[in-house]
Amino acid sequence: MRALEQSCHSAGVTVRTGTLVTELESASGILTGVRISSGTLACSAVVLATGGVSYRKTGTTGDGIRWAGELGHTIVPLRPALAPLIIEPPLPPAWRGIAIRDGRLNATVHGRLLASWNGDILFTHEGLSGPAALELSRPVAAAIERDPVQLDFDFFPHREFAELDTDVTELLRGTPGKMLANSLHAWLPNRMVNDLLRSAGLQPDVRCHSLTRDARRRLTTFLKSWRIGRVSHVPLDRGEVSAGGVSLREVDPQTMRSRKIRRLYLCGELLDIAGPVGGYNLQAAFSTGYTAGMAAASDWHRESSGRAGC
Ligand SMILES: Cc1cc2nc3c(=O)[nH]c(=O)nc-3n(C[C@H](O)[C@H](O)[C@H](O)COP(=O)(O)OP(=O)(O)OC[C@H]3O[C@@H](n4cnc5c(N)ncnc54)[C@H](O)[C@@H]3O)c2cc1C
Repeated sequence: MRALEQSCHSAGVTVRTGTLVTELESASGILTGVRISSGTLACSAVVLATGGVSYRKTGTTGDGIRWAGELGHTIVPLRPALAPLIIEPPLPPAWRGIAIRDGRLNATVHGRLLASWNGDILFTHEGLSGPAALELSRPVAAAIERDPVQLDFDFFPHREFAELDTDVTELLRGTPGKMLANSLHAWLPNRMVNDLLRSAGLQPDVRCHSLTRDARRRLTTFLKSWRIGRVSHVPLDRGEVSAGGVSLREVDPQTMRSRKIRRLYLCGELLDIAGPVGGYNLQAAFSTGYTAGMAAASDWHRESSGRAGC
């Protein structure tokens, strides 16, 4: 950081940290300045990089999106993305912090599949997080504005029902005198297994040899499609990113120049970009930020050399 500050300083760049920008100033479709508490900074170019509207405690309150809208840009409605899912009825508090690996989370609306994602889930104090839940948050957030959304979980997405039923049968045969809950400890999180079996209508303490065929199939059905609950809310402010923002159609992708206002460049999460889990959002911010910075510098350089030549 110090090396960066030094190289900026030697290039004649002033870095102002802890400085709130309150407004952008423009005249006749050209950006002219940036207002801060001590006055207005006249600008030859402004790269707007104020982020989205999620995780506001990092300072991202959506200012840049609002300013872009006031300057005439179209704002695609803001929605949560990569956000936790709040579940109704509430899940048992004892499940908090438990992760289930490599399952498949399905979101359904009136029994029809809305979206599905393979990966881990993590139980939080209000619902679900983890990669699979975060990935589903965007379509779920849009759908719950109109319809109830149910969540199901498949513990073994790579086993068909018949294959898994055979596995269950072998497990039960291999541990005939054990209680069902104890036999399943290798398959399900220990802290959840009793609750899960009861929710499937099975007694945790039944001996494996005495499980009926119907009960075994009920167990297999449960393992393939556990009904977790209904999504009551997807909190925008707790998402890793926000979907929506400045319409991409109004930004030149080669330079990140605004197509509405001269000397304005837009980058990062304030744009209508929301990528999946895996570093794509950071990459989008870095790439668009780099492109915007290079274009702003080169436009400024061209304009100032043009003036010098006049
Ligand atoms: C908890 C969390 C985990 C994440 N994990 C990942 C991940 O694993 N992979 C991934 O790809 N993405 C992840 N993201 C998303 C990623 O961090 C963002 O997409 C990215 O940082 C967006 O970059 P940005 O520069 O557009 O905005 P930001 O990084 O949000 O930066 C915007 C900056 O502008 C400042 N600002 C805003 N308004 C003003 C104003 N009026 N005046 C002055 N300054 C202002 C803010 O304080 C902030 O410093 C995560 C986000 C969070 C919150």
